[in-house]
Amino acid sequence: MQTASNILVINCGSSSLKFSLINIHNQQTLMSGLGERLMSKDASLTINFAAEKSQHRLKPPYNHQVVIETLVEILRSQQLTDDIYAIGHRVVHGGELYANPVLIDEKVKQTITMLSKLAPLHNPANLIGIAAAEQAFPQLKQVAIFDTAFHQTMPEKAYVYALPYQFYQQHSLRKYGFHGTSHYFVSQEVAKKLNKPTTQLSVITAHLGNGCSITAVEKGKSVDSSMGFTPLEGVMMGTRSGSIDPGIIFYLVEQLNFSLDEVNTILNKKSGLLGVSQLSNDCRALEQAAFKENNRLAKLALIIFSYQVAKSIASLSASLTQLDALVFTGGIGENSSYIREQVLQHLSLLNFAIDPEKNQQARFGQSGNISQENARPCWVIPTNEEWVIAEQTFQLLTSE
Ligand code: ADP
Repeated sequence: MQTASNILVINCGSSSLKFSLINIHNQQTLMSGLGERLMSKDASLTINFAAEKSQHRLKPPYNHQVVIETLVEILRSQQLTDDIYAIGHRVVHGGELYANPVLIDEKVKQTITMLSKLAPLHNPANLIGIAAAEQAFPQLKQVAIFDTAFHQTMPEKAYVYALPYQFYQQHSLRKYGFHGTSHYFVSQEVAKKLNKPTTQLSVITAHLGNGCSITAVEKGKSVDSSMGFTPLEGVMMGTRSGSIDPGIIFYLVEQLNFSLDEVNTILNKKSGLLGVSQLSNDCRALEQAAFKENNRLAKLALIIFSYQVAKSIASLSASLTQLDALVFTGGIGENSSYIREQVLQHLSLLNFAIDPEKNQQARFGQSGNISQENARPCWVIPTNEEWVIAEQTFQLLTSE
């Protein structure tokens, strides 16, 4: 019997659902889509199929289940349902329990539910996606791929916080790291570019999107990463503050009378590029404002961002025995030649030096080494988390 060749990849957020249907043999995405503004009357589903984009209105109750039902109808109309081999789900938090992909069964769902206390915004949404997919495709196997899994190789010195040790022992309070599939993917890709096995290569990967994290990868394994117990730690991001003096939280609560809920919202949703610029969380909009309109705070936000990214890269170099290359990925890392140039300007002591022409060329899906001839290599590599999820789903099920 011929095996079905496509994997349906599902990435469920609290009010969104992204999916891709990927052919496992040729890596092509046959169909992809995004359900947005779920749970509201404006909910919609955008589908990319056969080089065309179509917009679909969603029926009440406008939830994840409705997106999946609409998707099933569309797949059926294109006779694509029979060729789905399995479903791979992005799950944000696997705690210390999952260092590898896992076949989803009742026990795994219970564990993901239990881990929701570590990721209250993400794991419950991932479980909703799993339930909706199970209902729509009861005959298909489903696999969970965890964002934290790649970082489970971090040594103790990297993941234990300098807090009373019992918080780690009793409450799992430690650094986990996130964006694991992206860091894994680009660290594998740069090895191909450099023509070296990953086991002989040490790199730093900078995933700069709305969320940003930077990881030190020694011989194919994550040894430290900028994000921590939650995705709030590390460099500033679109709306997240990144690492700040924890004393600021006491000051906001005790002196400025903010509630803990308000502080949570400030640090997660009102800070970062948005907070400093007072304008936008979007790097493109800030570059426009800074350079076309000479907006001082937009420029300041971009400068602080680049400086923090550079410092994070420099500090992570301490966890490596060699540094073969730096990799930029994510929406900002892949497209903003300005941010890359700013970051590398701070890293001349690590022998990074940008080639301005190559830097301009590496945009909009183009990968390339943007360093000068004699400088340390710095690659721009578009990430492909969906492909990692599809590939790992297939590998797990075919190696059973
Ligand atoms: P997410 O983390 O939500 O997946 P992305 O990886 O898509 O986000 O990154 C979004 C960020 O990438 C936004 O700040 C956006 O402005 C930035 N970005 C996308 N294209 C460009 C560009 N051409 N120039 C500068 N920044 C860009």
